[in-house]
Amino acid sequence: CGIVGVLGQHEVAPTIVEALRRLEYRGYDSAGIATVHRGKLDRRRAVGKLVNLSDLLVHEPLAGRSGIGHTRWATHGAPTADNAHPHRSGPVAVVHNGIIENYKELRADLAEHGLTPQTQTDTETISMLAKHLLDSGLSPVEAAMQCIDRLEGAFALAFLFDGEEDLMVVARKGSPLALGHGDNEMYVGSDAIALAPLTNRITYLEEGDRAVLTRAGATITDAEGRRVIRDMRTVQMDQ
Ligand code: GLU
Repeated sequence: CGIVGVLGQHEVAPTIVEALRRLEYRGYDSAGIATVHRGKLDRRRAVGKLVNLSDLLVHEPLAGRSGIGHTRWATHGAPTADNAHPHRSGPVAVVHNGIIENYKELRADLAEHGLTPQTQTDTETISMLAKHLLDSGLSPVEAAMQCIDRLEGAFALAFLFDGEEDLMVVARKGSPLALGHGDNEMYVGSDAIALAPLTNRITYLEEGDRAVLTRAGATITDAEGRRVIRDMRTVQMDQ
């Protein structure tokens, strides 16, 4: 339902929770965040209001300057902590808005490779497929791109990888996603309003776009894999 991502210069967990708070108006049943800290991916998730996630983070803090966060409105799988995003399969974590229509077919393919889901969600199929592609020897960016190629349905996605503190891969198809440009920081949000306290320099991804983010900026390609330039606008947002 709500997506936030930050490649920052400082600890990102509080920033991400704050940005998710700006998306609360959309409604949600659970929330979670993942970060990469000293090369290690880790995550925290909680059912209910964001305060439950921030309380959990007080007791079990999550360090790191790169992270993704999500507020979930369950479509596939009950609103439990295990079904909350980010979903993680080994070295990859993903947050997802929307529905993956072909997740059953993808699950069946992955089962042939011995991969079994741990949750009831359509979303976990994305991290499982990305892990499978990473295991086959692809780089994180290539694995994410080939994974996205195989997804049907409406989605906005953000991927984070173990061992990659300056990398996020995002995609937009049928569900909006905005990139935010900071001072040697990059942000992503399913609604630019989430990023209002961080930046007013926004690039809206277009239908089918994918972007590879580092702190230095974004490399955007269209659905056919062609490099494209999307305008950066200065957007006035009420804080
Ligand atoms: N279909 C996904 C799920 O049920 C994502 C729902 C959403 O957009 O929050 O977990």
